[in-house]
Amino acid sequence: MTLVRGPVRSEPPAIAGGEKAKRTPYGSAPRYGDEELAELREALEQNTLFYAQGRKVHLLEAEFAARHGAKHAIACSSGTAALHAACTALGVSPGDEVIVSPITDMGSIAPILYQGAVPVFADLTPRGYTLDPAAVAARVTEKTRAVIAVHLWGNACDLSALRALCDAHGLFLIEDCAQAFGCAYDGRPVGTFGHAGCYSYNEFKHISCGDGGVVLTDDADLAHRLRLSTDKAYDRRPAALLRQPAFLANNYRMTELQAAVARAQLRKLDDIVARRRRWCGALSALLAGTPGVTLPEPTPGCDPSWWFFLLRVCPEALGADADAFAKALKAEGIRNSAHYIGKPIYAYPLFTDHSAFERGPHPYEARDYTRESCPVAEAILETGVMLPVNEAFTETDCVEIAAGVRRAAAWFASGQGRKG
Ligand SMILES: *Cc1c(COP(=O)(O)O)cnc(C)c1O
Repeated sequence: MTLVRGPVRSEPPAIAGGEKAKRTPYGSAPRYGDEELAELREALEQNTLFYAQGRKVHLLEAEFAARHGAKHAIACSSGTAALHAACTALGVSPGDEVIVSPITDMGSIAPILYQGAVPVFADLTPRGYTLDPAAVAARVTEKTRAVIAVHLWGNACDLSALRALCDAHGLFLIEDCAQAFGCAYDGRPVGTFGHAGCYSYNEFKHISCGDGGVVLTDDADLAHRLRLSTDKAYDRRPAALLRQPAFLANNYRMTELQAAVARAQLRKLDDIVARRRRWCGALSALLAGTPGVTLPEPTPGCDPSWWFFLLRVCPEALGADADAFAKALKAEGIRNSAHYIGKPIYAYPLFTDHSAFERGPHPYEARDYTRESCPVAEAILETGVMLPVNEAFTETDCVEIAAGVRRAAAWFASGQGRKG
């Protein structure tokens, strides 16, 4: 999609009484249809919805592994479950430290705490919003066991640097690909660079089965431990003793119904990602050079899959903060929200108050999270304004949104939007 950028209109922005830039409703399309219904019918006709007896989960796993060029895929009940299974299978244990991004979903964090391990937060890159390998290196101690690389917004972390770092220190690399369906790094799908790659099929991701997750790995032994880690450590292989759990594992099984929908959705992934890439590519081109606004920038070597579009405002250039800018965009009819998750994860009461469990001790209580500091992550959240992305958004959406963002920025930059 190559769109022509018109001149910035001289009329005032909507917040100052002008006409809205977004004049037409956003494009939308149903996510689920006949393909999902046909799969669901087949699943029900099997007369079992249990993964070990039906075919849908097994088929999904085979197709998912093939699609990503991985040897093994293990399906489970959510992205959080996928990450917890990875931590369990890799032996993350009480007192271990796991280095992770401070801007993410709780699904990246809860598994660490459930293993009795200690989340350690490393800072991010200012434009890519993913782990800065140098910041990760500075956080490694003799207690570090693993790094969870969160591919935020569909942009890969610097995977070659992180893998080299993990290999040098004997650490496990777990990829959190929940926002990165379809994202490629070095021409290969993310989730295949670490020891385990974890995907989420929740309602809000690129593709969905309501809730669901998948873990990728190339290691056969790890694949077996991952299977056990999603199924109470019950060994369902034909010759094995079923109830001999050798370690603690939850029930994170995927049902045949979820797998049925997940298979149909996987077939739509390439098209969804291609549309998002075209749309965000066009938006980036239209917004390039907008005063006081910095655009997201993919990690070198990454072809991102654009789960959302997070721009940052420069308050010095605009005389306006993210809240004022967000409000101006809202007045233009542009969907957006300021500050993404609000605070970095380490500033949540869960960390500042050590309130994970009603009574301790938990090893993370020894770490004073009020002293944790990731200045780049804090600045990203402080100045970030998030625009939602959807594969159904149209060229008109793109042109209108770009016009509204540019008009608001020009107005603030000219000093007219300044308070007082
Ligand atoms: C959504 C998400 C998760 C958790 O996935 P669920 O399926 O909701 O459990 C984990 N990490 C990131 C980065 C996410 O966006």
